Amino acid sequence: MKNRPELLTPEFRALSARLGSDPLQVQGPGGNTSIKDGDVMWIKASGTELANAETQDIFVAVDRNAAKAEAHGQGDGSCKQTVLDPAITLRPSIETTFHAALDHKVVAHTHSVATLVHVAGLEGRAQAVQKLADLPFVMVPYAKPGLPLTREILSRVTPDTKVVLLQNHGLICCGDTVDDVSNLIHDVETRLAMAVSGRQTKPPKERAPEGFEWAHESWVAQEAWAMAHATAGSYYPDHVVFLGPALPVQDDGRWPAVLYDGVGIALRVEATPSQRAMLRCLSDILARLPSDWSLDPIGLEAEAELLNWDAEKYRQTLAARA
Ligand SMILES: [Zn+2]
Repeated sequence: MKNRPELLTPEFRALSARLGSDPLQVQGPGGNTSIKDGDVMWIKASGTELANAETQDIFVAVDRNAAKAEAHGQGDGSCKQTVLDPAITLRPSIETTFHAALDHKVVAHTHSVATLVHVAGLEGRAQAVQKLADLPFVMVPYAKPGLPLTREILSRVTPDTKVVLLQNHGLICCGDTVDDVSNLIHDVETRLAMAVSGRQTKPPKERAPEGFEWAHESWVAQEAWAMAHATAGSYYPDHVVFLGPALPVQDDGRWPAVLYDGVGIALRVEATPSQRAMLRCLSDILARLPSDWSLDPIGLEAEAELLNWDAEKYRQTLAARA
C-alpha cells in the first residue's frame, strides 16, 4: 500500500498548525488531526505538537482499515502495527482508533477551553446541549483516552454525527473537507464562547520557594473559589498527565506546580512548556467558569489509570495523607 503523502495538503497542515498554536484550542502535545482517503489515513504522531504541522514531520500514515479494525477490538488499540512505512519510528496518536473509525475524510480533535468549561460540569453540559441543539452532535461520557474512549464514541455516533463533545476531555469535529471542519470548529467555538472575568494576579509579596517562581496564573490560589476547584480534583486527562492529580498544596518533589493558599502558584523553574501550557489551561477555564456552574472531577480511579498507578495503592496514599 502506498503512503499517499499528497493527502497532507497545505490546507490540512495549516488548520493543524493554527489549532496547535492557539492555547484556547490545544495545549502542548494535546489534540490531533487526521485526513484519510480509501485505505490510507495520516494522523498526528504521539508526542508531537500540532503547532509544528507546517514545519516538521508530525504526521504518520496508517492502514486505515487495520486501524478501524483495532477500534472494533482487533489488536491492542495502539495501532502501532498499522503504520505503513516500517522505517518510520513515529507512533500514531493514542487517539488513532476513533479517527480511523469515524467515517469522515477530515477529523480534528481539540482540548478547547470553551468546550472544557462546558463539558466538565453538569450546568455547562446542559447549556452546551441547548447551544448546539441544531448541530449533528453527540455528547460522550468520560473514558480513558485510547480504546475505552473510542468504544464510548462509537456506541453513540451515527453516520450523520459531525460534532462530538467529550465530557471532561474536549471536542471532535468531522467533515468532508478541511474547510468544512475549520468552519464547523469556528461555529462550535462561537456558540460555546464564554466571557472572561477580569481575574488578575496580584504579585505575591513573599519570595517564591527555592527552585520555584510565582506563576502568571497565581490568581487561582488568591481567590478562594478558584483555589477550591484547583484542589478538589482534576477535570481532564492532560492535566493529570502533566500536572498530576488536582494541584498539590505541598511540594512532594513530584509535580511542577504547587498551590499556596491565598498567596500564589509556585511553578518549578525547570517546568516544561507543556506543563506551563497545562497550568495556563486550568487558569483559562476557571476564568471563564460562571460562578453558578460546577466542575466534576474525573475521580481517583481515572487519575490512577492515566498515571498507570495501582488505584488501590493510590487511594491508600491519599487516605494516609488526609
Ligand atoms: Zn484528547
